[in-house]
Amino acid sequence: MTLSSIQTRIAEACFACDRDPEEVTLIAVSKVQPLDRVEAVLTEGHRVYGENYVQEALGKWPDLRARFGPVEVHMIGPLQTNKAKPALELFDAIHTLDRPSLAKRLASLAQAAGACPPLFVQVNTGEEPQKAGVLPSDADDFIATARGMNLPLAGLMCIPPEGEDSTPHFDQLARLAARNGLTGLSMGMSSDFEAAITAGATHIRVGSAIFGARTYG
Ligand SMILES: *Cc1c(COP(=O)(O)O)cnc(C)c1O
Repeated sequence: MTLSSIQTRIAEACFACDRDPEEVTLIAVSKVQPLDRVEAVLTEGHRVYGENYVQEALGKWPDLRARFGPVEVHMIGPLQTNKAKPALELFDAIHTLDRPSLAKRLASLAQAAGACPPLFVQVNTGEEPQKAGVLPSDADDFIATARGMNLPLAGLMCIPPEGEDSTPHFDQLARLAARNGLTGLSMGMSSDFEAAITAGATHIRVGSAIFGARTYG
């Protein structure tokens, strides 16, 4: 796969459900990818990336931004409270606000800095015990709490359970967002981004379909 073939598939999925491709931000997920692959996609002109680990992102993006100019980098991995400060300084959005202690920490850092990037609340739509995110039944309260802390909420994010049809999860996330007056929907990965677009995704997070399979270790 290449960037341009993914962009074509995004345009086709949008056309099929009568949406404007401009409404869908493609986050190219560059975690653990070799630098030459990331540089190749930067050279093709793509300027929105996603990372899962604060440490890895810190080691990569200050230099790449210096060489390629402004690049949006989104945090899409679990965020430890003790990494919240460097995360706020580095990232243009955080998609994994998933617990009150992190909300509190971000709120106090944001107040001190006088700025905060847009935040997405991660919802554990599959109610999987090992997965991060607030439970759907807790989402309304959590959103209200975060708003009470003046955090700038942009929308909701989910990672559907593996091996299940993603669409019911995407639809559930869209309903939760709508009833809370949130317009951002961060959902859809390499295997299901077209279904996510049909369900209303505004941010899709696509890694291996752009960069190739990740090799760990
Ligand atoms: C790794 C990751 C992705 C990208 O996954 P692919 O299947 O490679 O597209 C998207 N979202 C999150 C939260 C991820 O951790």
